[in-house]
Amino acid sequence: MTVNIGLIGTGVMGADHARTLATQVAGVTLRALTDADAARAKAVAVETGAHSVAADPLAVINDPKVDAVLIASPDHTHHDLTLACIAAGKPVLCEKPLAPTSRECLDIIEAEVALGRRLVQVGYMRRFDPAYVEMKATLDSGKLGQALFFHCVHRNLSAPPWFDSKMAISNSAVHEMDISRWLLGEELTSIQVFQPATSDPGATVSPVFLVMRTASGKLVNVENNNNGGYGYDVKGELACEKGAVSLRAPINSEISFGQVQGTSYPADWRPRFAAAYRLQLQAWVKAVEAGTSTGASAWDGYAASAVGEAGLAALASGQAAAIKLETRPKLYG
Ligand code: NAD
Repeated sequence: MTVNIGLIGTGVMGADHARTLATQVAGVTLRALTDADAARAKAVAVETGAHSVAADPLAVINDPKVDAVLIASPDHTHHDLTLACIAAGKPVLCEKPLAPTSRECLDIIEAEVALGRRLVQVGYMRRFDPAYVEMKATLDSGKLGQALFFHCVHRNLSAPPWFDSKMAISNSAVHEMDISRWLLGEELTSIQVFQPATSDPGATVSPVFLVMRTASGKLVNVENNNNGGYGYDVKGELACEKGAVSLRAPINSEISFGQVQGTSYPADWRPRFAAAYRLQLQAWVKAVEAGTSTGASAWDGYAASAVGEAGLAALASGQAAAIKLETRPKLYG
């Protein structure tokens, strides 16, 4: 069986997903794609062999030949497009965040609950990253004892012009908010945001340092610096009562040159998480084929956005903010 995919948004992430679907995922056909920039959609269709270019997102969602939809358009479009997929009864993999506000995420949860089945997966692909999967397996084995601290670092080479310090929390650090909930198996209940002194106090994007506490009292901290200056770098160390486990980025080669031995950093997230994106897409396609669900649910998308929202309140107030979630519907276990 082939799952026919419709793709909305063919920018950096959407084009990457299209290439991965076309070359590395089994049981799938790229049926239709669309982008606000029609020329961009056309170029990606030619490159990946997609069957057609649609005029707009609703034409993709309502195309009878499309079985499932992948949304990779900007954050503010996710709410309406995900709701349109639920209304059409089509499984949807929506890029993170599910929506910028928790209220919008709750609309999506309410629509899924009314339908009575899960159609929505959120693109928190780190859940499929072999390094995080191994970290979780080590924690769950019990040999390191109880988790105490999860230390996270998230640095980018440089922030795009439209980025700001709020997006560092609501668009970037939501990855750590999701992965720490998944890793530790519990909700985050409070967040405080600190900012270091920098040489440019008026900058639109400043580094943030988040300190979060889980329901049982474990501590998670995240250094998020979108202008890290040297490359894309994600680190994580889980410190437990009897030992610790650290993430390792995939390394395929080491260069010796000019009396220096070392490895290089990628310019963005795609090489670091290539396996995670591929494994996420393959798992999604298999779940669509089987009529089941996998990965981060709409509830997980809501929880991460709610933590991000509390983070924005904490940034504004300089105080710790409590994270209060609605009651989790039975649909999400
Ligand atoms: P981008 O700007 O490169 O691409 C977005 C594309 O969407 C553009 O081509 C734009 O023309 C198109 N677009 C805008 N409005 C549209 C609409 N209404 N309908 C159809 N197309 C529309 O951005 P990006 O970096 O590819 O990010 C896209 C999404 O992916 C964002 O939600 C972002 O948060 C997410 N993202 C996820 C990861 C990850 O690691 N999972 C990494 C980067 C970005």
